[in-house]
Amino acid sequence: MVSYKELGLVNTREMFAKAIKGGYAIPAFNFNNMEQLQAIIKAAAEEKSPVILQVSKGARNYANATLLRYMAQGAVAYAKELGWEHPQIVLHLDHGDSFELCKSCIDNGFSSVMIDGSHLPYEENVALTKKVVDYAHQYDVTVEGELGVLAGVEDEVSSDHHTYTNPEEVIDFATRTGCDSLAISIGTSHGAYKFTPEQCTRDPKTGLLVPPPLAFDVLDAVMEKLPGFPIVLHGSSSVPQEYVKIINENGGKLPDAIGIPEEQLRKAAKSAVCKINIDSDSRLAMTAAIRKVFNEKPGEFDPRKYLGPARDEMEKLYKHKIVNVLGSNGKAE
Ligand SMILES: [Zn+2]
Repeated sequence: MVSYKELGLVNTREMFAKAIKGGYAIPAFNFNNMEQLQAIIKAAAEEKSPVILQVSKGARNYANATLLRYMAQGAVAYAKELGWEHPQIVLHLDHGDSFELCKSCIDNGFSSVMIDGSHLPYEENVALTKKVVDYAHQYDVTVEGELGVLAGVEDEVSSDHHTYTNPEEVIDFATRTGCDSLAISIGTSHGAYKFTPEQCTRDPKTGLLVPPPLAFDVLDAVMEKLPGFPIVLHGSSSVPQEYVKIINENGGKLPDAIGIPEEQLRKAAKSAVCKINIDSDSRLAMTAAIRKVFNEKPGEFDPRKYLGPARDEMEKLYKHKIVNVLGSNGKAE
C-alpha cells in the first residue's frame, strides 16, 4: 500500500470547497506521457493553479501503474523545483469501471478516483459507488460518481446518445453513496466530434458551426437540490479550430471537429461546477505541433525536435484554460 500522502499529493476535498466559494473551477487534464505531464505541471506551477492529473484505465495500462506512481511523485518534486512552494496536485482515476480497478489505484498512490456506474441501472450504480466510497474513505481518498450518460467516445466509455442527469435523483444518490463529487450530463460530450453539423447552427459572420448550448436549466436544478455540492463536467474540450486547421493543412483529416464554446465553460466554472475535464484539446495541440514539424521538416527524426514544440504548445493551451476559462490561477500558493 502506497498512500498518496507519501507522494506529496492531495485529495480534492479542500480544493473543491474553495473553488465553489471562489467561483472558479479546477482543471482536470488527462495525461499519458512525460511531455504532457511536464506541460501540465509547468503551467500549473507558473500560474499557481491547483491541478488534477487525470489518468484513464487505458492511460494507466499505457504508462504502467508503477511508473505512473513515480511520475506523480516526480511531478510534485518538479513543481517545487519550479518555485511552487505548496503544490496542490491530485492524481485521479478517470472513468474507473470496477471496484477492483479503483482499489488498485487507491493502493498505488491515487488521491482521488472516479467510479463510473452511469451505464448501470440506478440501484446498481448506487451500490457500486458506495462500495468504492467505503473503501476509499478509509484512506482519505475522494470519490467522484456519475449520474446521466454523456455521448461521445473516450478511452473506456462510448455512447451514441446522451441522457441528461435527472435532478430528482441527485440527493438520493449523493446521500446513499457518500460520494464527494458528482459528474453530471448537461450536453457536454467526449471526444473531438461533440456534435454533428446537423445539430449546430452556422454563424452568418464567420461561417463556423455553432453547437447547441449546454442545459444550464439541468445544472441549476441539480444545484438547487444539492446546494454547495461539487459538480464535475466531463467532455469539456473546446476543440480549438486553429489546431484543427493546422492538422488538416499538414496531412491530417479531422472534418467538422466541434467542441464546447469556452464562454459556456466560463459560465459553468462560476457555478458549483468545480472540476472541468479537458483531454481532447491537449491531444489536438500535440498533434497539430507534431504534424507541422513533420510536414515542414521531413528530414527530422529527433523526437525532441517534434515532441518539444508539442510540449510548448500544450503548456500554452493549459495556461490559457487556467487563466481565461477556469479562473483557477493564483489559487494555490
Ligand atoms: Zn469523461
